[in-house]
Amino acid sequence: MSTPEAASVDTAPADPAPTETASVDCVVAGAGVVGLAIARALARHGLEVLVLEATGLIGSDTSARNSEVIHAGIYYAPGTLKARLCVAGREALYVYCAERGIAHRRCGKLIVAASAAETGKLEAIDAHARACGVTDLRPLASAEARAMEPALQAEAALLSPSTGIIDSHGLMLAYRGELEDAGGMVAFHAPIIAGTAGAEGFTLEVGGEAPMRLACRLFVNAAGHGAVPLARAIEGIPAAAVPQAFFCKGSYFTLSGRAPFTHLVYPVPEQAGLGVHLTLDLGGQARFGPDTEWIDTRDYEVDPARGDAFYAAIRRYWPALPDGALQPAYAGIRPKIVPAGVPAADFRIDGPQEHGVPGLVQLFGIESPGLTASLAIAELVAHKLDVSPVPAL
Ligand SMILES: Cc1cc2nc3c(=O)[nH]c(=O)nc-3n(C[C@H](O)[C@H](O)[C@H](O)COP(=O)(O)OP(=O)(O)OC[C@H]3O[C@@H](n4cnc5c(N)ncnc54)[C@H](O)[C@@H]3O)c2cc1C
Repeated sequence: MSTPEAASVDTAPADPAPTETASVDCVVAGAGVVGLAIARALARHGLEVLVLEATGLIGSDTSARNSEVIHAGIYYAPGTLKARLCVAGREALYVYCAERGIAHRRCGKLIVAASAAETGKLEAIDAHARACGVTDLRPLASAEARAMEPALQAEAALLSPSTGIIDSHGLMLAYRGELEDAGGMVAFHAPIIAGTAGAEGFTLEVGGEAPMRLACRLFVNAAGHGAVPLARAIEGIPAAAVPQAFFCKGSYFTLSGRAPFTHLVYPVPEQAGLGVHLTLDLGGQARFGPDTEWIDTRDYEVDPARGDAFYAAIRRYWPALPDGALQPAYAGIRPKIVPAGVPAADFRIDGPQEHGVPGLVQLFGIESPGLTASLAIAELVAHKLDVSPVPAL
């Protein structure tokens, strides 16, 4: 592979202008969990793959700012990419983690009707889940739910036994390691700032301290929040093939002290997110969130004042939450492609059939369950690039 060395510091797009053009079979923009999964899959299908990452780390944006939940695939619209890739990706992920020794736990989750008015919603959730291929939900009466989680206030609940938690950074390290074993690499501090798409492939302008020009036959835009601006910066990608970006922030609060729960606990969902839910990390530390806040500019500060609404939401299913027990933790931002008030969009994983540009796959709106679905997304991308004979899901 003729690739430049990664530069050592992160800088703005830079001078002097590059003079030489290096070339590689395939470039993947973005070393988040999805970009790394795709790069790993393409390299293992025999391609020469270079990941260009704007920052100095793998998985430092949305992939480091999520709940680390392996989702069962309960809520998505049946037949959508989110629904199909979540179910397929979840099973593939459990196998992958078991084989590679990646820390994870199939701890299960309880979806809780906190009032009699909500119990009917559980039946609807179960029916919806079945239509998505999730057939293992188990209805629990109040006493059964309390027997499993004595601190819980629940009129009724649904148990999802195939929901779990994962060490997402361990997963990304494994993806990167297998990418490198297959001959690929990640170049850091290498933001793609412009480019052209043509019949012969792509020419990409890479900024950073060591600017370069790179030619490739195949190009995957998996740049997360950077995917929309990147697509707009590449000449030859039709403007109509690029959605508008919207940001929906989710703040988390951690619980000081140990949580009296062993399952994840979710209220019945709300429109833009899943409600203020309790997740556990692999060390047993509880965190609550994410909430939903539509914003115009990305910022990851957690406003302590949002904690008031957390206390109220959590006490609906855990009345004994002590005053002062919540600490502001971190926030993630959902990369939305539809605005507030519009039903959630499906993942956009657009190949040549969708946008007409040969050798290009673009990923937009890869919010939850992108982590869970990462292995399945990667195989779909390989199929769209005609690299994998595996039929698309
Ligand atoms: C609050 C929240 C909670 C979530 N919880 C879960 C969960 O529990 N389970 C689950 O399955 N999913 C969850 N998700 C979804 C999951 O986190 C994402 O789907 C996943 O992390 C997206 O990965 P990515 O690789 O597409 O994007 P990212 O992780 O954002 O990576 C994109 C990378 O591209 C780089 N980049 C950007 N522009 C350029 C450029 N021009 N050139 C080069 N590099 C560039 C960025 O620096 C970044 O490293 C959650 C998401 C949010 C926001």
